Amino acid sequence: MLVATPAIILQAFPYGDTSRILRLATRDLGVQSVIAKGAMRPRSRFGGRLQVLSEGVAQFHHRANRDLHTLTDFDLTDQHAPLAGDLRRFAAAAALAELVLRTAHEEPQPRVFSTLVETLRALIAAPPERVALVALAGLWHTVIVLGFAPVVEHCVRCERPLGAQAWFALVEGGLLCPSCGRGTGSGALGPDDQAALRAFLEGTDADVDLPDPHVAAHRRLLVRFVRRHLTDEATLPALAFWEGIG
Ligand SMILES: [Zn+2]
Repeated sequence: MLVATPAIILQAFPYGDTSRILRLATRDLGVQSVIAKGAMRPRSRFGGRLQVLSEGVAQFHHRANRDLHTLTDFDLTDQHAPLAGDLRRFAAAAALAELVLRTAHEEPQPRVFSTLVETLRALIAAPPERVALVALAGLWHTVIVLGFAPVVEHCVRCERPLGAQAWFALVEGGLLCPSCGRGTGSGALGPDDQAALRAFLEGTDADVDLPDPHVAAHRRLLVRFVRRHLTDEATLPALAFWEGIG
């Protein structure tokens, strides 16, 4: 069946002498692998369009029970070129691509796709001092639309209200009240950090203003949460790089 769907190239690697294999996040078919035959030839009809993070409409022959489909066209709509020129923006986009790839399945994921598109645009548009916060909002919101919401409305252990200080319990996947959280050894999240986390989960950083060490702590928390709850403690090189660079 020939299908056409909006798509973003998450990963691309050579296959043989002349072809490329792409991993696509698609709006209509989840994450799919396609082969672009002859894409490395000088006069390929794909030209230079098959770059990682490029957005377009992918057309391919989709066969049920096959892992690899044949790409027939990629109608480029946005290359997101500014991402490649800024290491922090690119690191955040690569971390997001890795998150979507590592949690991939082939069901339609329209909200994952739209969050991916919106986050790439927001990363390009963000002023330099907001890039780290925009990345946190995009990544946490992706975690939510993937279906792995942490508990932040009440204590994850006893369900009592949270206090001005709260502690994040990684294994249980949520915040702890003072009586459950004291003595856990992890740092407390004050009111600003709790408000920031809730904003990120909603996909916004609009009212968030945190000192850099707190932003770094939020990056560390996100990466640990993703590894624990989404990827079975797998090594995640792009997320690890982004955590370090911010
Ligand atoms: Zn509690």
